[in-house]
Amino acid sequence: MPGQLYIVSAPSGAGKTTLVRGLLERDRGIRLSVSHTTRAPRPGEVDGQHYHFTDRASFEALRAVGGFLESAEVHGNLYGTSRAWIEQQMATGMDILLEIDWQGARQVRLAFPQAVGIFILPPSMDELERRLRGRNSDADEVIARRLDAALGEMEHVDEFHYCIINNDLAEAQADLAAVVRACRVRLNVQKARHADAFSFLRAEH
Ligand code: 5GP
Repeated sequence: MPGQLYIVSAPSGAGKTTLVRGLLERDRGIRLSVSHTTRAPRPGEVDGQHYHFTDRASFEALRAVGGFLESAEVHGNLYGTSRAWIEQQMATGMDILLEIDWQGARQVRLAFPQAVGIFILPPSMDELERRLRGRNSDADEVIARRLDAALGEMEHVDEFHYCIINNDLAEAQADLAAVVRACRVRLNVQKARHADAFSFLRAEH
C-alpha cells in the first residue's frame, strides 16, 4: 500500500515550520518533501536540506517536462514539489509531508485525492500581527502587507480536512500527531498493513 500524503499549509507566522519539525523528530515514519524554489537562501538555509535552490530558467525547464507534481508562485518566487521524489517515496510505503501553499495543495489534491490536508491557524489576527512583528521593527506598511498575505492564505482553510489552532505549542503539536495517528488506524490502512489481524474474517479469505 502506498504511503499517506499529508499537506500542511499555513499563513506565515502560524508556526508551521516548528510544528512540522517537531512531528518529524518524533515520528520516523514520515518524510518531508524538500521543495525546489527560485527564492534566494536565507541565512542558515542549506541547499538540499531546506530547499533545492535553483534559478528561474532551470525551474521552468523542469516544470516544462512535468518534473513538478505541483508548482506555484508565492511572493514573487517559484516553488515546486518534485514529482519523481514523491512517487519514489510513496511506492516504498513511506508517509510523506508537503509544506506548501494553498495553490499547491489544490494541485496535489487533484493528483492524489486521498491526500490529507491540514491547515494551521494562529489563535487570532492580533496574535498573528504580534508574531509577524517579532523582535524586528519593520515598517507598518511591511507588516500590513504580511498580514494581508496571511489573510489571503487563511481564506482557503475550508479546502483542508483538519485545522490546528496554534495557541499553545505543545497542544498544537499533540493535535498534529493525533491527526497522523488517526489516519494510520483507518480501516483500509489497517487492513492493508496488518492482513494477519483480519484473517479471522471469512469475507477476507
Ligand atoms: P518560504 O519562502 O517562507 O520558505 O515559503 C513561502 C511559502 O511558500 C510558504 O507558504 C510555503 O508553504 C510555500 N511553499 C514552500 N514550498 C512550496 C512548494 O513546493 N510548493 C508550493 N506551492 N508552495 C510552497
